[in-house]
Amino acid sequence: MKNLPEHKLVVYNTLSRKKELFKPLKPPHIGLYVCGPTVYGDAHLGHARPAITFDLVFRYLTHLGYKVRYVRNITDVGHLENDADEGEDKIAKKARLEQLEPMEVVQHYVVAYHKNMDSLNVLRPSIEPHASGHIIEQIEMIKKIVELGYAYEVNGSVYFDVEKYNQSHQYGILSGRKLEDLISNTRELSGQLEKKNAADFALWKKAEPAHIMRWPSPWGDGFPGWHMECSAMGCKYLGDEFDIHGGGMDLLFPHHESEIAQSTIANGKAPVRYWMHNNMITINGQKMGKSLGNAMSLDDFFAGNHTLLEKAYSPMTIRFFMLQAQYRSTLDFSNEALQAAEKGLKKLIVAAETLNQIQSTKDAPGLGIDKIEAGCYAAMNDDFNSPVAIASLFEAVRIINSVKEGHSQINAEELEQLKKLYRSFVFDILGLVSEEAGNDHQLVDGLMQTIIQLRQDARTRKDYATSDLIRDKLTSLNIEVKDGKEGTVWSLKA
Ligand code: ZN
Repeated sequence: MKNLPEHKLVVYNTLSRKKELFKPLKPPHIGLYVCGPTVYGDAHLGHARPAITFDLVFRYLTHLGYKVRYVRNITDVGHLENDADEGEDKIAKKARLEQLEPMEVVQHYVVAYHKNMDSLNVLRPSIEPHASGHIIEQIEMIKKIVELGYAYEVNGSVYFDVEKYNQSHQYGILSGRKLEDLISNTRELSGQLEKKNAADFALWKKAEPAHIMRWPSPWGDGFPGWHMECSAMGCKYLGDEFDIHGGGMDLLFPHHESEIAQSTIANGKAPVRYWMHNNMITINGQKMGKSLGNAMSLDDFFAGNHTLLEKAYSPMTIRFFMLQAQYRSTLDFSNEALQAAEKGLKKLIVAAETLNQIQSTKDAPGLGIDKIEAGCYAAMNDDFNSPVAIASLFEAVRIINSVKEGHSQINAEELEQLKKLYRSFVFDILGLVSEEAGNDHQLVDGLMQTIIQLRQDARTRKDYATSDLIRDKLTSLNIEVKDGKEGTVWSLKA
């Protein structure tokens, strides 16, 4: 393993609230669990950030020589509205509204999610388990917790006894919340009446007659509580205790806090060594949300299909933009910032092409590529600080351009080193790819602009037969062409 003995990777652990030297339980193996999407709608920026953050973690650990088992689940049952213990299941609701089978909804959005993630060059995880495929494991874990006296049954539902847990453990250890505050801040909802304590959370919920997603259990027909799936699947694939658990900061409480509590009781030990959380995204300084009218799907970004977007932004622009911020910082999306990222990415990619063309000069003095390489590793070893690594790579860009323009010369050894640095950091670790020639979207867009121009020319010379023919042919390919004040735009019909 190339860098393993000497690397000093430091990771910010949400649990200890400080940076810690990363020491895996069983090197070279690493267990990495990340909470995946609840699949009831199109993927948006909020899905892209954890996916890209932990893709970077996965890629870098792999680069260092570790064998990473990366588990990212699909939540397809038990996630109720408002992340609460009451309300309709998000997937069941969508199925009801669209008159589909719940698993049809799940399949549709899993496929769409994969398509989006592929275009962002997010690597597929090693295992992608579905919550609905692990009902037995969840029931077994709940049974254990009930037997140990940390959960109780009421009317066919099972709740975790937070107060009892808190007597010997610390509920709030991850989020820093205090149980007293949690109890006094909880709103009185109908289901709270069943609970001994407002802070208790559901491990299993009884399914009312109208509830379509239901399974038999020792407590009657029902479905697992939302937090249960990650405890059960993490344990099944990575063991009672594993290295890294990641997710967005919005999952810290109650999801991850509850995961720690229930796993600790069921397995007799805390489940995770390093908890990592990516920060949130804002749009023009505002929180993202449907009610604010700024919720944009990734497809909207890729097609420029929203009033807040001045233009389309390619998947790599979005990826590069996210990597330009450290994952624990908030990230604000604006047209200005995205266009700056687009330019920066282009510079980096053009330099990669230039790098393949420049020639070495015998006995040319060193240009300090060692220092740049050391800078890239130091940045990544400092809690995956990608923006600092990118700044080092721009140093390399400056050198590449200077050699190309004849201002400096590079020796063969350093040229090779520079090529290797680019391959490792730009392509393998940051996961950037060239979207120029050969990229499907760019190519199709170029072709479409030509077709739109031909149709426009036909209309100008009043050749409506040709312009209509072009439109009809495009329609039959599910391509919609719209004429507006700003010109003609095209899009693929969903
Ligand atoms: Zn989870």
